[in-house]
Amino acid sequence: MKRVVIIGGGFAGAYIARHLEKDFDVTLIDTKDYFEFTPGILRTIVHTKHMRKIQVLHRHYLHQAKFVHGEVKEFNKNKVFVGKKKIPYDYLFVCSGSRYNIPIKEKNIVLPNRADTLKKAHSEILDARNVLIVGGGFVGVELAAEIVDFFPDKELILVQARNVLLEKCSQKAQKYAENYLKKRNVEIIYNERMDKQDGNLFFTHTGRKIHAELCFLCTGIVPNTEFFHKHFSSVLNEKKQVMVEHTLQMKGYKNIFVVGDLNDLAEEKTAQSAEKQAYVAIQNIFALENKEKLISYHTFPKVMVISLGRFYGIITYKNFTFTGILPALLKWFIEWKTMIYYR
Ligand SMILES: Cc1cc2nc3c(=O)[nH]c(=O)nc-3n(C[C@H](O)[C@H](O)[C@H](O)COP(=O)(O)OP(=O)(O)OC[C@H]3O[C@@H](n4cnc5c(N)ncnc54)[C@H](O)[C@@H]3O)c2cc1C
Repeated sequence: MKRVVIIGGGFAGAYIARHLEKDFDVTLIDTKDYFEFTPGILRTIVHTKHMRKIQVLHRHYLHQAKFVHGEVKEFNKNKVFVGKKKIPYDYLFVCSGSRYNIPIKEKNIVLPNRADTLKKAHSEILDARNVLIVGGGFVGVELAAEIVDFFPDKELILVQARNVLLEKCSQKAQKYAENYLKKRNVEIIYNERMDKQDGNLFFTHTGRKIHAELCFLCTGIVPNTEFFHKHFSSVLNEKKQVMVEHTLQMKGYKNIFVVGDLNDLAEEKTAQSAEKQAYVAIQNIFALENKEKLISYHTFPKVMVISLGRFYGIITYKNFTFTGILPALLKWFIEWKTMIYYR
């Protein structure tokens, strides 16, 4: 059997491992020992019991594939290096995704440590009188909504560098999110960027001083591509994303696929896109094996489901926007369906 190595067990890597383990000798390497439904993480910060619902150990859903718990530090044309191990491959899938600021998404942890981190964030919210959220994209907005839903007495300030929230969504969605937060006494400061911090004081670029006992940074995702630097820095673009062909093969390499948040495809980095790309990459490894024509991945607009606390939400698709309780239920359903698939 040909050897397939997969780096990263998120939405793309876990999906690929499950689909290839019968036909290939698969090794999944991940810094976490579990798959996590990232869109549900924000709920766990305000409601720690939710964590059990969104995590599942890799060894639970993998039946034939090997799992290696560790961080890949480098790879070359035929081997992956993790700790003292050198793992040879015929095909490599790099699915190491992206990271956010702690505690939103992190690596280098196992389940109990993860629980500690989230519990710490939870108890910090309990203790804090006022909370500052930096960033008014969908993560900042969803987190603000979770906090005001579970802790209506907290003073909450949201600083957004743009003149609207959810800048990639329709006006209707932007207004709905703004109204939801304002009705719950969230102070929204537009057109200001966070500049520096001195203890509990935070300064925006205009010199505005904000006092907050707790701050969450919800800005900018960073691709996890540090391990490309030694041998493959030439395939990284200026954003440190990996350049790929439309077949999802790494530029210049037939047997290396790069799938999910870390590649340079110009589309919203979402779990849905990671899974759709994973599907194409799976078709293409079989095409290579059978000496058939490879298929292309096409970026296209996707449905976005944004939750606002437990009972409200927004669905957007192109110019269509739907708000209210149904989107909140849909988000819950997607989480349930994804986790059933891995359990
Ligand atoms: C708070 C939040 C809310 C979100 N909400 C939504 C949503 O509602 N809908 C939606 O579609 N998308 C949402 N997203 C985006 C979605 O989570 C990502 O697009 C998706 O996780 C990308 O999948 P991936 O497989 O590319 O990478 P990831 O899910 O990031 O997985 C990468 C994996 O690789 C591992 N890894 C990293 N570096 C290494 C290394 N060197 N060695 C070994 N392993 C490594 C990581 O630990 C991780 O397990 C949200 C993201 C966040 C942070």
